[in-house]
Amino acid sequence: MPPTLARRLLDGDRRALARAISLVEDDRPEGWELVREVYPHTGNAAVVGFTGPPGVGKSTLIGALTRARREAGRTVGVLSIDPSSPFTQGALLGDRIRLSEHFLDQGVFIRSMANRGALGGLSEAALQAALLLDAAGREDVFVETVGVGQAEVDIIDHADTVVLVLMPGSGDSVQALKAGVMEIPDVIVINKADHPLTDTMVREIRGVLALANLDRPEAEVARRWRVPIVKTEAARGVGIDELVTRLEEHRAHILAEGRLAERRRRNLRNEVLAIATARMRRRLEEDLREDAEFARLLDEVVQRRLDPASAASTLLERAADR
Ligand code: GDP
Repeated sequence: MPPTLARRLLDGDRRALARAISLVEDDRPEGWELVREVYPHTGNAAVVGFTGPPGVGKSTLIGALTRARREAGRTVGVLSIDPSSPFTQGALLGDRIRLSEHFLDQGVFIRSMANRGALGGLSEAALQAALLLDAAGREDVFVETVGVGQAEVDIIDHADTVVLVLMPGSGDSVQALKAGVMEIPDVIVINKADHPLTDTMVREIRGVLALANLDRPEAEVARRWRVPIVKTEAARGVGIDELVTRLEEHRAHILAEGRLAERRRRNLRNEVLAIATARMRRRLEEDLREDAEFARLLDEVVQRRLDPASAASTLLERAADR
């Protein structure tokens, strides 16, 4: 009997990995089944998420990091997620030339995932894909999100370490941090640090980080992870060693404080809720498709005799009665 897909995946077979990710990407039942089978073998990868505006150099940075991790003898998986792109992986991969030096390396697995318009689908598929990379024994998993918006946040939240990549002049992101729109990441990278405004930017960010600590008790601030700001020139490989060191320090910090387990518990809670919510919505929509009573309820809303919230309450009461 030939080995099963799960067996091949656990043995680190790249083709099995590619096939498995396609299954979850297409939301196929075999994909979910596979994740169920290999899930007990996950939790070993160091998952690092990279976020930041387009063009700051995330891909270049991941390419440089991948090189450094390979030199250290570690296996790497890269997931490049683009919620804004309607293209499938082929088109996207063509774009990702900056990772091309790694395409032939068996120790590196690179996969792009784009939005296929499925409801909540991309985030979910990306999370499952990260689990599959983990199960396949990839020691470092880098998840990159291209584009901005809520969809990317979901995916990034599941990383053990979150890296925000900026470049001199990305003032909008600094404002977003300041306003609390963007959560404070674990590590901040200022890429393209050959730019004359780099140090101004570093000072600005230090200010924002200090502000965020102001309303916390001193003892807590002393215990907390101090967010490092790392200056890099990804295209020339400058600052990559320091970034590797900071990533390792962060991992050691969360392991020592028991935060990794806590963080994963929170992330897994969110994931379970996200899947349950998506399935409930799908079920509700299926139930209501041919439902005459719902159509009547909707008519009332359209005619302004009933407000949307009251209609929703009626709907939920009815669902609970069933
Ligand atoms: P992403 O959209 O954030 O993934 O950014 P890319 O990695 O695609 O990089 C965008 C552009 O910035 C590319 O043309 C890179 O060659 C260039 N780039 C990346 N790192 C550096 C750097 O350190 N210095 C300079 N000057 N350019 C860089």
